[in-house]
This record gives sequence, structure tokens and C-alpha cells, in this order.
Amino acid sequence: MSERAIVIGGGIVGLSIALGLARAGLGVVILDGADADNRASYGNAGLVWVQSKGADHVPYARWSRQSARLWPAFAAELEQTTGIDVEYDQRGGFSFCLDEAEVEARRAMVDKMAARLGPENDVEFVDAGFVRQRVPHVGPKVLGASWCPSDGHVNPLLLMGALRKRAAALGIDILYGHKATRIGMNGSHLTVYGEGFGMRADRVVVAAGLATQELAATAGMTVPLKPVRGQIVVTERLRKVIDYPTPTTRQARAGSVIFGNSHEDDMAVPGTTLSVIASHAQRAIAEFPFLASRRILRSWGAIRVMPRDGRPVYASSGTCPGAYAIACHSGITLTAIHAGIVGPSIAAGELPPAVSTFSDERFHVVSPA
Ligand SMILES: Cc1cc2nc3c(=O)[nH]c(=O)nc-3n(C[C@H](O)[C@H](O)[C@H](O)COP(=O)(O)OP(=O)(O)OC[C@H]3O[C@@H](n4cnc5c(N)ncnc54)[C@H](O)[C@@H]3O)c2cc1C
Repeated sequence: MSERAIVIGGGIVGLSIALGLARAGLGVVILDGADADNRASYGNAGLVWVQSKGADHVPYARWSRQSARLWPAFAAELEQTTGIDVEYDQRGGFSFCLDEAEVEARRAMVDKMAARLGPENDVEFVDAGFVRQRVPHVGPKVLGASWCPSDGHVNPLLLMGALRKRAAALGIDILYGHKATRIGMNGSHLTVYGEGFGMRADRVVVAAGLATQELAATAGMTVPLKPVRGQIVVTERLRKVIDYPTPTTRQARAGSVIFGNSHEDDMAVPGTTLSVIASHAQRAIAEFPFLASRRILRSWGAIRVMPRDGRPVYASSGTCPGAYAIACHSGITLTAIHAGIVGPSIAAGELPPAVSTFSDERFHVVSPA
């Protein structure tokens, strides 16, 4: 009989790890929580974004880029196996600068990335002429941008649908409303306990979004997280004119323009505020003046799963061998590498060597005597 893995959390991270485990031959069960849980996977912007990732941490820059390189084949495989086109588009992305302070900050980021990544660097600062050639509808306030050909975007709701369809085809059971409360050893058996159940497994992966911190702690892993709210606005469907995404604005294939990229620290309540939506709209109009006369259809707020230092956490348990915990704030970007490399590696009994730098040991700080 094949080994069994339990993945706690049915968001984008849990689903992508589960696919990797199942493709490696394990029987996989996903335990998912309640409808009312925070679910970043249903409220994000859909960027597969690398240009600013890891400016202060080269392994994170490399890890994000490696995932972006895996994305085209991953999206093609999803379409082939599920019939769902997740609208992945990787033609590059800009981050626009609207004043001299933004130009200076962007240039500094680009220089830092170039110095740190050396020949692997793929980000450059480009002037307004370069931007206008590719994005003719930008406004006169756009002074320049950072540009990275590895950036892209995807439809996150289609992606979730495709992952769930693929999971079903691979025989993965998703048990909704199964809230796990702790991980422990029952004799020599790794066991997940929840409200009214105890389930044995050979591997357990905690990927429960913000709940990962508490669940991982029950197996001795340290995953410090904080909630960060982001608010997003969506327009009516428009003629497709924005071909390149930015961190603040992208146009979906169906024509809606999706804008906004707020980071409201330690805010665990979803929902929107007029002040943030208004500032999103001002920025979007400065980037693309034609939006001023277009209608907004909806807006929402969702809660990011933010590791304390902003870098992903890949932890393995010392007290419960076979148990792992994963949390990251760019789960869409990292979907391809989670399914293609992390899942199969955990199936084989260890985390991939490339993530040793993201272990939870970095949080084990010894207090001075
Ligand atoms: C506004 C916003 C914009 C974003 N934009 C981007 C972007 O453009 N690109 C990008 O890469 N990332 C983006 N992100 C981040 C991305 O959405 C997250 O990294 C990702 O969704 C996290 O997925 P997750 O599976 O870890 O968590 P979640 O989606 O939060 O899922 C966690 C799951 O665990 C379940 N759960 C919780 N507790 C338990 C329990 N005790 N037992 C069982 N199950 C449990 C929940 O029910 C839930 O289904 C954005 C996030 C936000 C909020």
C-alpha cells in the first residue's frame, strides 16, 4: 500500500503541495477548514511576480525566479489534464514610477538586484519612452519603470478550480469542514487530530495560511506570521489595452482591470475602506488616465499570510518526524515550484536543499543571558 500524506489547508499552497505529493505516488488527503476562514487564495491579485522579490535575500530571488521558469510548463500541464486554461501570461511586467522619489527608490532596487544577482539579474530600469512603446495608454505622470521579462499573471480563481480538478483526477480527497487542531505522535504513528477525529499519516504538511503558526507549534515548528490586509478593485470589462501587468494594475483576459496593492499591517479583518479604495483609484488613474471614466464593479479586502521577515518558511519537525509546515506571502508565484519540487521532495522524505535557508531555525533566537 502507498504511503499516506495529510495536507492541512486547501488553499493554493496546500493544493499545490498535495499535487506534488500525489504525483510522487502518495495517497493524499487534504483537510480544509471552514467557509468563514480567511482565504488569501480567493482574494489575491494573480501576479506571478519576481522583479522585486529577494532584493535583500538572494536565495529568495532565485527561488521566485525558478518558480517563474516552471510556470509555463505547469500551466500547460494543467490545461492538458483539466481542460482549464488558467490564463497564464508571461510577457514581462513593469513597476511604474510616478514621481522622482519613486524613480530614485526603483533605481536603487534595480541596482541592488543587479549587484546581488550578477549575470542572473533580469531587472532593469527603463525610461518613459520604453514604457510607452509597450503600454501606449499610460499617462504623462509615468516617468519610468522597473522592467522584468520574467514577470507574468494568471487568473487566480481559474487556477484554484484547475488545481482542485487535477487533485480529484489524482485521487486526492479534500475533506471540507475538517479543522485540524494539533499534530502529534500516537505511539510511533504521526497523527493529525481535529474536532472528532484522529488520522494517521506518513507525512503531514501544514499549509493552513495564517493558522499555520499555531498548528506548526504543536509539532515544535516555529512559523511566525502576521496578517496584512490588501484591498483590490475591479472595473467593468473593457477593451483589452493593458498588455503588461504592474504590481498595482493588470487587465484580465476578459477585459476587467484589477487594481490596488495596499499592505495594511496587522489587519486581520477583511473588508474595504473608502480611503484605501480612493487612493487605489487615484494611482490607477495616474497610471492609466482612461480609467477615470470607467465604472468600478466590485472591490474586496483579503488577508495576506505574511511571514515575520517576509520570506517563505519551510520547516520540518524534530518532534514529529514526517511533519512539515509551509507559509509564504506569494503563494501564486510559488505554485509551480511547490507542485513541481517541494511536494515531490517531501514525498521522498525531506525538504529540497534549496529551501534550507528558509528553515524555521532562523527564528530560534537565543535571548542574551
Ligand atoms: C490582496 C492580496 C493580493 C495578493 N496578490 C498576490 C499576487 O499577486 N501574487 C502572489 O503570488 N500572491 C499574492 N497574494 C498572496 C497569496 O494569495 C497567498 O500567498 C496565498 O493565497 C496563500 O495561500 P495559503 O494556501 O497559504 O493560505 P489560504 O488561501 O489562506 O488558505 C488556507 C486554508 O487553510 C484552511 N485552514 C485554516 N485553518 C485550518 C485548520 N485548522 N484545519 C484545516 N484547514 C485549515 C483554510 O480554510 C484555508 O482554506 C496576495 C494576497 C492578498 C491578500
